[in-house]
Amino acid sequence: MLPKELISAQSLARRVSELSKEIDKKVPPGPLTVVGVLRGAFVFMADLVRGIPRQMTCDFLGVRSYGDATVSSGVVEITSDLGSPVEGRHVLLIEDIADTGLTLGYLQELLRARKPASLHTCVLMAKPNLPASVKVDFVGFEAPASFVVGYGLDAAQLYRNLPYIGAIEPTKA
Ligand code: IMP
Repeated sequence: MLPKELISAQSLARRVSELSKEIDKKVPPGPLTVVGVLRGAFVFMADLVRGIPRQMTCDFLGVRSYGDATVSSGVVEITSDLGSPVEGRHVLLIEDIADTGLTLGYLQELLRARKPASLHTCVLMAKPNLPASVKVDFVGFEAPASFVVGYGLDAAQLYRNLPYIGAIEPTKA
């Protein structure tokens, strides 16, 4: 059975297009590197960057924090680093969903240490318990407390290909 639909493909397309415009207005002109967090951000990033009409490079960070569970392991592990340095470049970090903020907080620190000209963060969804200490510049949707899948987001690597966001029942590790 497919997960119950929470956000339709049409609503995603509308909001992502708005986000692209917000980002284009706010991120200063100059060399831009868009950094997607693998694997969850790949669908969102593909749609988002196509709505930003300026020169950019796209890079990726591979990260693991959940394993196959639906509860964070509490440890962020970099599985694959950026292909190029970001020093002096405007960086836009793209994440699928922020829950505890642990992953974003860690990645923001990692990127800041590499001295970008500016660092902005965009998430498709933010869960209600995201601490205020984790700064997110662009948020697509407030996520429900339940575990969500689709549009790049997975549960044990499944459902990334769903064109909508759906909810599934949580499982323990
Ligand atoms: P955080 O470090 O607790 O903020 O968790 C962030 C990462 O956990 C995200 O990049 C996702 O990969 C994963 N994650 C958190 N909540 C969900 C969810 O509801 N569905 C799918 N993945 C999630």
